[in-house]
Amino acid sequence: AKDGGRNAYRFVTKEMGARSRERMDLEASLRRAIRGGELFLVFQPQVRISDGRLIGVEALVRWRHPHDGLILPDRFLPIAEETGLIVALGDWVLYEACSQIRRWRTKLNLTIPIAVNVSGAQFRDGQLPAKVSRALDANGLRGPELEVEVTESTLIDDVPGAVATLQALKERGVQVALDDFGTGYSSLSYLHRFPIDKLKIDRSFIQDLTGQGADSTVPRAVIGLGHNLGLSVIAEGVETEAQLAVLRELRCESYQGFLYSRPVTADELEPLLTRQPVD
Ligand code: C2E
Ligand code: CA
Ligand code: CA
Ligand code: CA
Repeated sequence: AKDGGRNAYRFVTKEMGARSRERMDLEASLRRAIRGGELFLVFQPQVRISDGRLIGVEALVRWRHPHDGLILPDRFLPIAEETGLIVALGDWVLYEACSQIRRWRTKLNLTIPIAVNVSGAQFRDGQLPAKVSRALDANGLRGPELEVEVTESTLIDDVPGAVATLQALKERGVQVALDDFGTGYSSLSYLHRFPIDKLKIDRSFIQDLTGQGADSTVPRAVIGLGHNLGLSVIAEGVETEAQLAVLRELRCESYQGFLYSRPVTADELEPLLTRQPVD
């Protein structure tokens, strides 16, 4: 038992050493990835429920690591957050999304609005409205062609500061969606103070819509709340026709999810865009 204990200890320290080495490797290579063109965006269509038309896409970041292959955000965003690299990464995403809108406009002669995820650090750094403006101007875009997705926790940290930042985005015409709505807490009392356009119902509540113990309580409440506040509501993570049918019944405006399409590369999205023109 004594021996086992000592071995277990050695095992733990060795394990921790390996893990922190892995983290440091990841940090250094993430830094390089942001500068060196290893990041790319995939796009998931957003669809209007009433007529099934494509109304925009959400941009999601991916990392093509030269040795390890494709790395998903769940693995590198936490490290980006802890090291502050998230701001540079977010700047890259913002600029790349705006460039992509311009490229599609030039190539396909249509305008597809893009929603980008904005992290707490990026939202709070004070320069977001200016950066957004520059990215729009540099690509000849109008504000409503860009939407930013922020989470409740990003906003409730500093309510007056958040309201000011949202106001500045609003003045530029940029749309704002509240992401993962319903998973946070305590924001209900602030919601009406935020100048936002859209609520995004979290995937976890969409999963609850069908199957064993199906429960539509939260989506119903979020849709009712959103509509009472004059907001549009979008559901994320819609995977089945049955889930979509419930959302239609509840008068949810739009959805995204594997049912319509997984997130795809810009090239893969093009046939979808030209087959079914965007409004
Ligand atoms: P999110 O913003 O809630 O994005 C939705 C996630 O659900 C995406 O995962 C998407 O691929 C996945 N998804 C979409 N439809 C379905 C579906 O029908 N079923 C299931 N099971 N999953 C679906 P992804 O791309 O791995 O991104 C994970 C999270 O990473 C995002 O969650 C977002 O919080 C963050 N993220 C992604 N890209 C960016 C970015 O550019 N900047 C920032 N700050 N965060 C990002
Ligand atoms: Ca999102
Ligand atoms: Ca979300
Ligand atoms: Ca989510």
